[in-house]
Order: sequence, then structure tokens, then C-alpha cells
Amino acid sequence: MRLSQLLIATLREDPADAEIPSHKLLARGGYIVKTASGLYTYGPLMWRTLKKIIEIVREELDREGAQELMMPIMHPKELWVRSGRWDRYVADGIMFTLQDQKGTDYCLGPTHEEVITDFADTLINSYKQLPVNLYQIQDKFRDEIRPRYGLMRGREFIMMDAYSFDVDAAALDVSYAKMDRAYRRIFTRCGLEFRSVQADAGAIGGSGSEEFMVIADAGEDAILYCEESGYAANVEKADSVPPEAPGCGDPLPLEKHATPDVRTVDQLVAFFSLPAAAMAKTLLYQATWSDREEVVAVMMRGDLEINEVKLVNALDCLAVALAGDETVRRVTGAEVGFAGPIGLPDDVRLLADRTLERRTNLLTGCNETGYHCLNVDPGRDCRMPSFHDLRLARAGELAPDRAGVLKSARGIEVGHIFKLGTKYSKAMQATFMGEDGKPTPFVMGCYGIGVSRTAQSAVEQNHDDAGICWPAPIAPFEAVVVCVDVKKPEQVELAERIWTELRDAGVDACLDDRPGRPGPKFKDVELLGFPYGIYVGRGAADGVVEYVVRKGRAKEELPVATAIARLREALAAERAR
Ligand code: ATP
Ligand code: MG
Repeated sequence: MRLSQLLIATLREDPADAEIPSHKLLARGGYIVKTASGLYTYGPLMWRTLKKIIEIVREELDREGAQELMMPIMHPKELWVRSGRWDRYVADGIMFTLQDQKGTDYCLGPTHEEVITDFADTLINSYKQLPVNLYQIQDKFRDEIRPRYGLMRGREFIMMDAYSFDVDAAALDVSYAKMDRAYRRIFTRCGLEFRSVQADAGAIGGSGSEEFMVIADAGEDAILYCEESGYAANVEKADSVPPEAPGCGDPLPLEKHATPDVRTVDQLVAFFSLPAAAMAKTLLYQATWSDREEVVAVMMRGDLEINEVKLVNALDCLAVALAGDETVRRVTGAEVGFAGPIGLPDDVRLLADRTLERRTNLLTGCNETGYHCLNVDPGRDCRMPSFHDLRLARAGELAPDRAGVLKSARGIEVGHIFKLGTKYSKAMQATFMGEDGKPTPFVMGCYGIGVSRTAQSAVEQNHDDAGICWPAPIAPFEAVVVCVDVKKPEQVELAERIWTELRDAGVDACLDDRPGRPGPKFKDVELLGFPYGIYVGRGAADGVVEYVVRKGRAKEELPVATAIARLREALAAERAR
């Protein structure tokens, strides 16, 4: 491709809504143009990159025996009613819905479990046809509350979604391991620094859920990892060894203390000269199930924090939110800051974190404005709470395997693999004839890769002040030959010759044959981020060119043949990953 013929329009200014470097650079390079909130047009260069990522995904999934198909984007409501997800997705507001001219309801697919389960049920009748793993690469639609960061969180975005069908859990383990392997190769080949982390599997449970995270400060996810053992988990899922707490001694008589204006843990530490670990704070949450809402009370050791995802799982509800001041007043009869386990209304469920199990002589609120209770003994002074792991693991704590201390990092979730089991096949009555001749529900896995998010993550990880530094395997062009001054025939001739030679050698190269001053041309080329460059300038007459590696901006004057050899060597190393 000649850059003189390519639509290149680089911008000087960052778009007003671009907050992170990758979004700014892709917009400034003309890679993406916002069509509407969360909707983007991919320009010709962006589309080249996306096609390269798609091809890597395809190659690695095919290598593991997965089969590509294509499902409709528009789904009938009826399928989603059968799986039981229609009402919830509509209530969450995440799904785009529409009607045909007869008034029948449809949605634009945010994910495809329903359609694929129905498809498998139609075509797969016998255990002899299993295992099967089916995937597609297609636009997904989600009405995200906060579309932002460009392609990172769009409302229409490209996803690879795969679904495996197996006879039993052991066979699913094999299918899952294949996808895990494929994902590692995909992200390695894309040139990304990533980590796979344990993820919350929600109410479905089970051990099988991992997210693939590209490590970057702009990531929306927090992860905790242990360098010594390799343990890594999304903070929503992470465990740790809880920090030690001082012994609590034999139960003492309950005491009530006036604590005017003392509400927070820090204030209580100062007021009572007790460590935070000797306290139990009580937080009220509004919990939502599909059919009801309830206020629940959660006790947590004073020095620790609640993990709301673990709370949702413990309650087996859809969502929790801290109760508002009004609700706190109504339920506890006291101002915020004085809630406690004693005398809570009977219909308020009382949960506590495991770190409080068997602890006595706790300092808690009294459910009376201006008072706290000392020496609270759960089971004696109040109902015995039900104990669950509700604690947020934090950096600096010991990893659950005790191999070392947890460190924290930010990550961008580019992929997710998940053992579904029979959730959808049972709900939708999708079965095959088992070896025993009985109808058996499929044991399923589901797998996703955010293709467009992956492309932008690569930029987030590979850029500098001058622009993008694409990893070669997903760069729109692997190399650029720059003709510095197109008015000089010897430069034009040499640049054309090098360009031809590179392409003949299988290098995906473009030629910058644009007229104009060299400065702005170099600026554009650096912003666009082609990984390797050969600049043909004044040395052309002597057969000398400049060989440039975009990442690190190393430049070297070399004879033409040497420059070409160096470029091909560097490229071969990157392609071999
Ligand atoms: P997130 O937690 O970021 O909202 P998710 O867990 O809802 O993502 P999945 O349903 O697991 O996402 O989808 C599979 C993959 O699709 C994700 O790992 C992510 O890379 C990508 N993805 C999800 N939502 C978006 C979006 N709004 N824009 C771009 N990519 C997305
Ligand atoms: Mg996910």
C-alpha cells in the first residue's frame, strides 16, 4: 500500500472524551472515529490490525479442533425466556431490544449461549458426536451504562465467543484445557504481556473460571498475585491469609458505653484504645433477588473490608448495595455509625465474616445513636450470625498458599474462559442420547475474547510520547519504507526497490511516498506506529539508508542490503513467538 493513496488523517488534538493514552493515540492516528457513544468506525488501518488479530484467534482455535460457525445477531425473545435470562437482562438494561413489524420481541445478542444451545440441541443427538467446540467472531451489543475508553468498553464490539459441548465434567475439563492453551498462544502471538487469573464464577460456582488480563495501569480490574507461587486472581475472587488479630480472651460481661460522635473505626480505635481487629463493624446492605428485596446486616472485623461479590455469592442474590441512611435509621433505630448485631429486627438476616468465628468480647455498635457495646459475645448477646468468607483480600497479605505476599496490579480483561456445566442445557432441555441410552444434558463451557478490546490493549501496553509502537504480528503494516523527499529521483527509485524487495520476501510493508516536508511525515509515521522502518534519504546515492526500530526509536545508518537483512531478522523473531 502506498501511503499517498491511503486515507491518512492524523489529528493534532486529543478528542475531548479520550482519557487514556491508547484511546487518544488511536483517535489521533485516525484509526478509529466515534460514530456515537460506544459506537466506532474502524478506519482502514484499524481494520487491518483487527483482521490480523482475528486471523491469529482463528488459527489457534482451529489448531485445538474448534469449528467456526456464524449465528444471527438478532435473537428471538422466546429463546431467552427458555433460558430464564430475558427478564433479568431487560431489567439490568444491558440488552438492546427491538420488535419486528408484527410486534414480536427480539434482542441484539449480548452473548450467544441461548442460540448455540438451541443449535446444538437440534444437530447433536448422540454422545458419539461429542465433544464439539463451536465459535464465531462477530459484533456483540451491550448497552453499557458507561461506554468509555474508546474500544475498551463499547456498546457494539467485536467478540470471539466459543461454546464447548461434552458428555460429562471430565470431558469438559479437557475442552477447557484446550481453550486455556489456545488463549495463551493467542495473546503471546499478539505480543501482549498478560496474566491469567482466577475469576469469580458467580452463583454457578465451580473452580473453572479464568480471566486473561493485559497488565496496564489503565485497566478497570484489580488483580492480586503472588510471584513465589504464581497464584493470581481477580480481586473479586482473591483469597488471602487474614492478618493476625490479638487474642480475645474469656467472655466478659456486656458493657454499654456512651460514644457521642464516635462513628468510624479510626475514631473508635482512638476512643477505646483498642485495635481495629477487636471490633466488628456492622454494615447494612440492600440485597436484590429476582423476586424480592431484603435488608441484610453484615459483620466484618474492624481492620478488614467486605468483598461485595463474595457477599452476593453467599446470599445467592443478584446484587447488593449499601443501604441508604434512611434505611439504616429505620432498621437500626439509630443514626449511621452505630449499627450493631444486638436487637436487630428478626427479619434482617445477620451474616458475619469467617474471621469473626469464635471471637468474643467484640466492640460493636448498639443500634442506639451515641452508644457502642463492649464485650459483645455473638450467640450470647445477639443472634449467632451465619459465617461466610466475605473478606476482601488485599495486597501485602499472605497468599492463600502461604508461598509469599500478594502484590497488586491493574489489568484489562481481554478474555474469559468459563465452565458452565449444565446451567443452560438443563434450563433449555438440550440433551443428547448418552451411552446408557438416556437423554443427558450437555455439559458446556463458554469462552470469550474481546477482539477490539485486545487491539486497543496492545496500544495501551506499547506506546511512547511520539505514538503507537505496534507489536509486529498485529501491526497494520509490519514495516514502512519512507521516501524522505519524493522530488529526488534517486530516493524514489531506491525506496521503490526496497519496498518491492521486502514484499517479495513476504514482509507486509507500506511505502510512504507522500509529498511534503520530512518533519511532518516522520511525525505521522511515528504516531501510526509501524514497528520497523527503512528511511531513504540523502544517503540514497551511496546506497545507505536509515534502519529504524519504532519501539525504543533506535536508528542506524546501514547499507541497503544490511538494513533489509536486519529488518527481516527482527521480524522473524517477533513472528516466532
Ligand atoms: P467486563 O467485566 O469488562 O464488562 P464481561 O465479563 O461482561 O466484561 P464477557 O461476557 O466475559 O465480558 O465477554 C467476553 C470478553 O468480551 C471480555 O473478556 C472482554 O474482553 C470483551 N468485552 C466485554 N464487554 C465489552 C465491551 N463493552 N467492549 C469491548 N469488549 C468487551
Ligand atoms: Mg468476563
